[in-house]
Amino acid sequence: MRKKTEQKSTTKRSVKSTAKKAAPVKKATVPAEKAEPVKEAAVPAEKAEPVKEAAVPAEKAEPVKEAAVPAEKAVPVKQAAVVTEAPVVQPDLGPRRSVAFIGSECYPFVKTGGLGDVMYALPKALAKLNLDVKVILPRYKCIPQKFQEKMEYRGSFYMNLCSDGKQYYVGIMEYQEDGVVYDFIDNDEFFSWGNPYTNLIDDIPKFCYFAKASLAALNYLDWTPDVVHCHDWQAALVPLYLRTCFQDTNVGRAIAVLTIHNLKFQGIYDRKMIQYWSGLPDYVFNKDCMIQNWLDANMLKGGIAYSNKVTTVSNTYAWEIQTEEYGEGLAAHLRYHSNKILGIVNGIDTDIWNPATDKLLASDYDDKSVIEKKKANKKALQESLGLDVDDHKMVIGLISRLTNQKGLDLVNAVIPGIMDEHTQVVVLGTGDAWYEDTFRYYENKYKGSFCAYIAYNENVAHNIYAGCDALLVPSRFEPCGLTQLIAMRYGSVPIVRETGGLKDTVWPYNMFDNTGNGFTFDRYESGLLYDAINRAKTLYFEHRECWDNMVVRDMEKDVSWEKSAKQYKDMYVELTPRS
Ligand code: ADP
Repeated sequence: MRKKTEQKSTTKRSVKSTAKKAAPVKKATVPAEKAEPVKEAAVPAEKAEPVKEAAVPAEKAEPVKEAAVPAEKAVPVKQAAVVTEAPVVQPDLGPRRSVAFIGSECYPFVKTGGLGDVMYALPKALAKLNLDVKVILPRYKCIPQKFQEKMEYRGSFYMNLCSDGKQYYVGIMEYQEDGVVYDFIDNDEFFSWGNPYTNLIDDIPKFCYFAKASLAALNYLDWTPDVVHCHDWQAALVPLYLRTCFQDTNVGRAIAVLTIHNLKFQGIYDRKMIQYWSGLPDYVFNKDCMIQNWLDANMLKGGIAYSNKVTTVSNTYAWEIQTEEYGEGLAAHLRYHSNKILGIVNGIDTDIWNPATDKLLASDYDDKSVIEKKKANKKALQESLGLDVDDHKMVIGLISRLTNQKGLDLVNAVIPGIMDEHTQVVVLGTGDAWYEDTFRYYENKYKGSFCAYIAYNENVAHNIYAGCDALLVPSRFEPCGLTQLIAMRYGSVPIVRETGGLKDTVWPYNMFDNTGNGFTFDRYESGLLYDAINRAKTLYFEHRECWDNMVVRDMEKDVSWEKSAKQYKDMYVELTPRS
């Protein structure tokens, strides 16, 4: 059966943008692969004139001209000198490489889950390691106006997309921060929806366009990266375009890396539709590359086949996805490509997630003051969420997309058992109506002890991480998981299932030598989750000193990107040896 439901929740932020519609262009001039670096001010996208004519392959996309000029006299668009310099080279930081990140979401512009966090924090960490990093994103309407206003127009051109050569406008808007350059692909037709993901019928054309436009934009900007690093199915056609249409262009020299953040989402749809929209050559539509179940095409499967390296976000998940249980139908394909699969665990941005400087908290704290100061945060959390204010109660948090992946059926099953006069539970999330309603039911049933905050809210998330004692992450599968990392950073003890990145980042508590970071269980059974929560409660209520020691240990644990960013850098360098 075709997967039409494989979208992340779309009920998250939808900040209205007032960005004006970028009009198409008049006439193409110089092929994108030959386009010169942008030099002087050009037309803002919203002032670009209507297109009259354009009939060139995307990989030869031509810069937009402001007014109609005879083709033979046309020159590339020149623009304002936008500072594109990479951070200052520091010799002791090792070799330098350039990397283009291509993905569908990135904090703080647009985020629906962990991918958004990684697309922000990893490039920033890589820039500090002497890498030249550019992030390419869709310019969705939901990107807050404060960022839209700071974007600079870098140029535009027309690109063919579909197998019948239909032409589409590609605008490039640039924004810079922390040594990272963000280039937003602008096209009103594809990105005018409030949310990044809608449904597959719309999303397949949208991300075919995005993948191809990203490469065409790199050629247009004359920025040839050593590595093109794409993320998840939305960017999975990039390696295929790179080795087909863009093969003989500048960007075609780049190495392709694909990171799987969640194998559940693959971009599977009717083969004919993907073939039409992508305009990819027929030969990639075979059973070892794009084709699945005869009738469907699978964008992630094709991306895996055509990438030089496939990474995923933890070691355990890298192994799990090659098994039938976790392989989501791609286990055999992944095993075939196993020699190029590498697991690198995610980190978190420790500047954003820092309880010592977090302005959203009632009281900031570090590992020295956590035991005392957490009380003030717990009190503020209880007050703001309508829970009974009582420092002696153990507050258990859950921050999650409310979907089948996250082990919520286990949580639902154990709630009646764990709710007692000493325990409070706070759930923050949106997603499947069934889960939302069940949690609302529990809120009503356990008034003052259970809070169901059904929304996507960053501020509330910060306060829960700081104010709760323990955080549940009982996922059915979890590629890496960030909430357990953030919880530890905020001195909240994670209770997790031993799968994927949860297994790699949370060491089980050992009562004999007082080591470990949290409580874990292995098989996907509610009884085992119940047992893990009870073990946590026992330590919390009966051996508070041991609990407090674990809280401090968790805060001291290195959950930053430092180590992992270094691993990514080593991989880039290994893939692009210099003679
Ligand atoms: P996934 O990517 O599968 O959703 P992760 O654990 O990798 O899960 O990342 C989840 C990220 O989204 C974390 O930063 C978490 O704090 C955030 N998050 C999830 N749900 C909410 C919510 N309802 N409100 C605020 N933040 C949320």
